Amino acid sequence: MAPGVDGLPAAEREVDVSGPVAEFVRATSPSFRNQLRLGLRVFEWLPFPWRFSRLSPEQAEEYLRKLEGSRLSLHHDLLLMAKILATLGYAVTAPVQARIGFEVRCGLADGTLPEPAGGLGDTEPRGEGEECDVLVIGSGAGGAVAAAELAEAGLDVLVLEAGRHYDRDSYPSDHLEAIAELYRDAGLTIAAGKPPIPVPVAKVVGGTTVINSGTCFRAPREVLERWRREHGVEWALELAADYAEAEHTLRVTPLDPERMGRNGQLAMEGAAALGASGGPIARNAGSCVQCSSCPFGCEIDAKRGMHVSYLPRAVAAGARLRAGVEARRLLVEDGRAVGVAARAAPNRRPGRDYTVRARRAVVVAGGAFGTPELLQRSGLGGGAVGRNLHIHPACWVGARYAEEVRGWDGVMQSYYVDQWEPQGLLLEATFTPLAFGGAWLLGAGVDHQRAMLDFGHVGSIGVHLCDRSAGRVGLGPEGGIRASYKLTRDDADRLAFGIARAAEVHFAAGATEVYPNIPRVGTLKPGDLATFEATRFKPGELRLEAFHPMGTARIGAEDEGACAADGSLYGTEALYVADASLFPTSVGVNPMMTVIAFAKQIARGIAESA
Ligand SMILES: Cc1cc2nc3c(=O)[nH]c(=O)nc-3n(C[C@H](O)[C@H](O)[C@H](O)COP(=O)(O)OP(=O)(O)OC[C@H]3O[C@@H](n4cnc5c(N)ncnc54)[C@H](O)[C@@H]3O)c2cc1C
Ligand code: SF4
Repeated sequence: MAPGVDGLPAAEREVDVSGPVAEFVRATSPSFRNQLRLGLRVFEWLPFPWRFSRLSPEQAEEYLRKLEGSRLSLHHDLLLMAKILATLGYAVTAPVQARIGFEVRCGLADGTLPEPAGGLGDTEPRGEGEECDVLVIGSGAGGAVAAAELAEAGLDVLVLEAGRHYDRDSYPSDHLEAIAELYRDAGLTIAAGKPPIPVPVAKVVGGTTVINSGTCFRAPREVLERWRREHGVEWALELAADYAEAEHTLRVTPLDPERMGRNGQLAMEGAAALGASGGPIARNAGSCVQCSSCPFGCEIDAKRGMHVSYLPRAVAAGARLRAGVEARRLLVEDGRAVGVAARAAPNRRPGRDYTVRARRAVVVAGGAFGTPELLQRSGLGGGAVGRNLHIHPACWVGARYAEEVRGWDGVMQSYYVDQWEPQGLLLEATFTPLAFGGAWLLGAGVDHQRAMLDFGHVGSIGVHLCDRSAGRVGLGPEGGIRASYKLTRDDADRLAFGIARAAEVHFAAGATEVYPNIPRVGTLKPGDLATFEATRFKPGELRLEAFHPMGTARIGAEDEGACAADGSLYGTEALYVADASLFPTSVGVNPMMTVIAFAKQIARGIAESA
């Protein structure tokens, strides 16, 4: 895939790619590995009667070009699969990063280090189990905040987290290892459908807040109003104080345009030239100045994820946190949740049984995948559990600029454009690190390598859709989950409209060409937009990813929702949900702050009634 060109090393001959990638694939889910095996077999035999792995470098190059120029979506899907894996392994190597000039340099504007966060106590599960008043399952945006709120109300709280504990002293420096360690299924949780959409979530103490981009938005008032009016979230318009407290705790600050980095500034200039509304993004990373490596854990913990904010606060108030403990089945006696049967594997060893009993309540906060998984595995909740999966499908729209952008010398997510919010679209200047963004670049083989060499001239905008399409989460045959998502024609049209708007912003900022991430289109030049907009694309033609799963245990009336407005699961006493699963519909903006506000509401209710 990477023969080596213009000073870039050749894969395998000069840098080892297949070894680390094979190791990485071990951390993915069994169902992903099965699909991958099948995909790789087809990729290998497609040049029949020859095999890809036995082709000469020239023949391999020719074959990859054929796939790139093909009209068949199968060919594009296979090529993308191969590019994603090969780029992950290749782009993280030091010689490649050095040749491209890509650097990871986390830092604060004044050159200091953020002060150390409070400790998390002894996170080791000991013996066969323990007891508490309230058991919280999951330590992400929902679980950590619920734990802090409940512990500060005087309850004896225990938090179980399936992932391990990492912070600035221990994040793996190797990016492949970081993805395998910090993410569920090594970041390759895929919602099956046309197109298949990767929806990564974290599995680590602090949940997805450890690897997210730190962008902080309050939910739009109209969305909250609709949730109150149509879905029974009676307190939806009473979240202002909760948002404000969270903004204070997480030190949410709008970015200074001066230190956004060029990628954000270009989006700002393009939007201004079009008269499109937007602004610098507010983030929970204080005065961090760079470096687009948020998805690997912030090397200095400038980003105030839950592991350095609400979890230390919960522990200071007496909560206990156990890492590497996966809740497997909720325990219910006489219709009441009384604890959980879990598996403790804190040190990568096979693990042992661990049982927690809760005297007052159990709060499930495993995220929009983990929560329905646990409820379904326990046979709890009605038919609404697992349905109504919304994800904010998103498209990476890259562009080439004559000037140097060096997106890695700036904040990863930096400028938003909300001009097209009425159409459900939010554009965010987001620079993706080479390991991920590299796979979206056009070309294969030598062409793809040249595109990577030019990465310093690429700017990118993420187009996020407030989706009406939905999917579901069920249990997979080999354990774990099976997620699926059906992108409607209508949502595909709205995404194509959003891609055109992102292209417009890029061109207005001076881009010479834009990559709409649709194989049939390839590259857009400034005069191509009208033709692009006159073309209708099938959902399966779009290349999407998504970062905001939600809605899989939604609040609603008993005949449509899984939970009542106080977060309690219908049908089981003393069992609550407090995470992104609760959202009745897609929220339309980055969801972390609204997850936090919801968790505060739910936890206060539990504390009052427990
Ligand atoms: C790459 C990326 C970037 C993002 N950027 C932003 C952003 O900039 N701004 C924003 O607002 N949002 C962002 N998000 C989304 C945001 O982080 C999530 O919406 C939010 O963290 C969801 O909170 P949660 O509590 O529902 O789940 P999570 O934060 O995912 O936490 C769930 C936790 O529960 C644990 N768990 C699951 N099942 C079990 C079990 N059975 N036993 C024990 N533990 C379990 C998981 O391991 C996980 O740690 C981003 C997401 C991604 C993937
Ligand atoms: S961009 Fe992200 S990883 Fe880099 S310093 Fe800021 S918060 Fe940390």
